[in-house]
Amino acid sequence: MWTMEFSDDPYALTALLDWQIELGATEAIGDTPVDRFAAQEAAQAAAQAQTSPGPGAPVSTEAHAQGRAEVKAAPVQGPDPVMEAKAAAAAAGSLEELRAAMAAYPHCELRLGAKTLVFADGNPEARIMIVGEAPGRDEDIQGKPFVGRAGQLLDRMLAAIDMARDAPDPEAAVYITNILPWRPPQNRDPSPEEMAMMMPFVERHIALADPEVLILMGNISCQALLGRRGITRLRGNWHQVLDRPTLPMFHPAYLLRNPAAKREAWADLLALQAKLKDLS
Ligand code: URA
Repeated sequence: MWTMEFSDDPYALTALLDWQIELGATEAIGDTPVDRFAAQEAAQAAAQAQTSPGPGAPVSTEAHAQGRAEVKAAPVQGPDPVMEAKAAAAAAGSLEELRAAMAAYPHCELRLGAKTLVFADGNPEARIMIVGEAPGRDEDIQGKPFVGRAGQLLDRMLAAIDMARDAPDPEAAVYITNILPWRPPQNRDPSPEEMAMMMPFVERHIALADPEVLILMGNISCQALLGRRGITRLRGNWHQVLDRPTLPMFHPAYLLRNPAAKREAWADLLALQAKLKDLS
């Protein structure tokens, strides 16, 4: 059997750290080690104690007569994460209350690996609301959406049509959020379950901010709010989402990898500008 000796030799500790980085660990999220095996065993023991009969557990009369200990186990009813999210989101009467409801929501395990809850940035009075995918490393550290390289490109794109996330005038401002408020490990795509449980919060967020126009950045937000992927075909065409005109666009991270697609992004920015004019 392979065992690991822990030592306080700095060379051994550095080697151990290098090994973890090699395995893909990108961040330390706690000061003290957690024994996940022990936690799992404790959870299994607790679940077993709940479902197995205690000394005073009721037995059916028939089973009793036959000397069998037949226990009518009540079905174990776990909470329904989506129903709970819907109730919590519906109860929020303001953006601040929504943020608090999301911070208190226990069912999305991404929260355990994230440093911060990334709620939104920009001017909530803005006519435009941008919905991205999920925070990355920089967003997780700063607690704001779109602040890394992709976010800086997004700011430059907005500036090209005289808009900015922090403009005090709602006419020139933008409000920004994501489908997921917590960074997924290794920036992986959110799972369908994670998206389903966070959608009631996204929908409430849109209802409370009440923008005139929505921009969906990339495939994940199109999947979540349009039920469709395929950004290359979706982008540039207006859709109706939650009763408002909605424009899918290439994600700025995609534009960083494919600069040639900035042409289409520029056309979409002009279409957005024209739509705002039409709606005024
Ligand atoms: N990509 C996103 O979709 N959202 C962010 O906040 C950052 C990068």
